[in-house]
Amino acid sequence: MTLENLDKIYSSDKMALSYEIFPPKDDDTGEKLNKLYLELEILKQYNPNLISVTYGAGGSNRNLSLDIISYIYYELKINVMPHFTCICTKKEDIANYLKEIEKYNIKNILALRGDEPQDITVCYRDFRYANELVDFIKSNTDLSVAVAGYPEGHILAPDLESDIKNLKKKILAGGEVIFTQMCFDNDKFFYYVDKLKDFDINVPIAFGLLPILSFKQFEKMMSMAKVSIPKKLLDGLYKYKDNSDDIKKFSIDYTTEQAQALIDSKLISGLHFYTLNKAYSTSAILDNLGFNN
Ligand code: FAD
Repeated sequence: MTLENLDKIYSSDKMALSYEIFPPKDDDTGEKLNKLYLELEILKQYNPNLISVTYGAGGSNRNLSLDIISYIYYELKINVMPHFTCICTKKEDIANYLKEIEKYNIKNILALRGDEPQDITVCYRDFRYANELVDFIKSNTDLSVAVAGYPEGHILAPDLESDIKNLKKKILAGGEVIFTQMCFDNDKFFYYVDKLKDFDINVPIAFGLLPILSFKQFEKMMSMAKVSIPKKLLDGLYKYKDNSDDIKKFSIDYTTEQAQALIDSKLISGLHFYTLNKAYSTSAILDNLGFNN
């Protein structure tokens, strides 16, 4: 397998494919981890360019993340991109962790600020925003750096424009690709892309797609992020509220249509699936889009 930097993956004409997974919580027996690896075997058949692994607040799941990173690279032989957050963390600890992950032959990292953990007693302010982390990584490693973008604005930003101004700081610091927060409304995204152009932000975009798996998951997500739900999606979610099979089927169709329109728009360089550690919906969408041919 060849290890590829973000600029190589996202510069080709071919639509890049990536998945986000998270280290399973409360997994004393390792059962959830084994299940995750089986799901990844299914997703592997679509030839993803990379798999990204989330990072727990304050590094809470570091060891498990490292096991997963190693599995993806050495066993599945797929490029892996760890997420990394800097909030409340000492510069020295960040430098040490970066050294540690570089041992795993990774080429790429998603640099994030993160959210302040609620149960923390001391919060170091060595890094206040993600642009400072991007700068630190670019100055101290050879890693390619991705950053987060919010098509409807970050939840704490006063408005979309100020959030994009802050995104620009991450790009100027060396952010090479934008991975977006989940977004269900292509019109909002197209507006966002126009705004990015106003700020002269022209780096490739990997669009975050979230196939909804259940009504409960939808409700939880709505309480955490600033995302609008188009009427068509909302109507379907309420219609199939009590049947998770029907909700999954509806969401697969909705996301397939959304992804196809994004591909046709030629405004994105990659599809990034928030898999929630499950292969079923993501693979059905990729089948519909013809990724298995
Ligand atoms: P920043 O870019 O620093 O932005 C945070 C806020 O501060 C924004 O409102 C922004 O407008 C403002 N801001 C930014 N820079 C400045 C500046 N220089 N001066 C003033 N204001 C500024 N969280 C996790 O804990 N683990 C994960 O693995 C994880 N993965 C994610 C993956 C993706 C693709 C996305 C979109 C989010 C992810 N998150 C993750 C959530 C993320 O950590 C939170 O959304 C966090 O609140 C913001 O992180 P950021 O890197 O976007 O922060």
